[in-house]
Amino acid sequence: MFLTDGGTSEDRLTSEDAFAILGNEYRAEIIRTLGEEQGTEGPRPTLAFSDLYSKADVDIATSQFNYHLQKLVGPFIDKTENGYRLRHEAVALYRTILAGTYTETASLERFQVGVDCYYCDAPIEARYADRRFTVLCSGCGREYSDTTAPPSIVEGNHEALLNRMNQYARHRILAFSKGVCSICANDLRTRVLPGEELGVSGSEQLDVFVHRSCDHCGAQQYMSVGLSLLYNPELIAFFQAQGRDITTTPIWELEFAMTDRFVDVRSTDPWEIALHIEQDGAELELVVDDTLTVLD
Ligand SMILES: [Zn+2]
Ligand SMILES: [Zn+2]
Repeated sequence: MFLTDGGTSEDRLTSEDAFAILGNEYRAEIIRTLGEEQGTEGPRPTLAFSDLYSKADVDIATSQFNYHLQKLVGPFIDKTENGYRLRHEAVALYRTILAGTYTETASLERFQVGVDCYYCDAPIEARYADRRFTVLCSGCGREYSDTTAPPSIVEGNHEALLNRMNQYARHRILAFSKGVCSICANDLRTRVLPGEELGVSGSEQLDVFVHRSCDHCGAQQYMSVGLSLLYNPELIAFFQAQGRDITTTPIWELEFAMTDRFVDVRSTDPWEIALHIEQDGAELELVVDDTLTVLD
């Protein structure tokens, strides 16, 4: 099911206009007040001018308040018969602010994730700093996962955090692995790059990387071949038959996704890469080209 209750607006703003409109404490407070009114259930609430004015934490005259409110009407707020209501653009903004993306700082000391390094056997650890959740080896320093995430993630105990971050990272991996940008929903460009040509930190960890980038918003991601194929139905079925659900297992526990031990580069021009997994007497081989299309 797909539900939408969005209004339409013909108003078009440049991003400079949008930042300028929002760069004012009273307008930010109006968006916060309407956003808070919504809670987590039901349709977006509508507040009459007098209610909005009395609920907002501002000490300016109604005429001044109205001046700022009218700046938001159109691009960020709809004016209806019953009052004022956030547009979806403003709801998204409000949620991003609540996630602490622009306002808060948080960090987490390193803690163990319960798996040993695939290369040096030292415990693998997780940490959160500078808005990045990183899973890395405490011995050799190899990075296994690095995800940008808002400060609101640090709530709760370590186990719960790891479960949530596994799913949070996966929702991006899933979209990216299907060739869609998880941020702006545009098509991605896919390339296969040899690790030695990459020249960025961590590029020595794998022989080949799958690089996906969005021309629209600039988002990009480097992944192992195994991780790129994480949602391949044959791979899922193969592990399912072994009693393992790779759609929920923390990605750092999946050796085929964290290393390139199961990857065999058959040809580089054109690219032909095999992912070959043997387990409990069963074997699976997926051969892909440079767009990650399964050839065989
Ligand atoms: Zn290590
Ligand atoms: Zn994008």
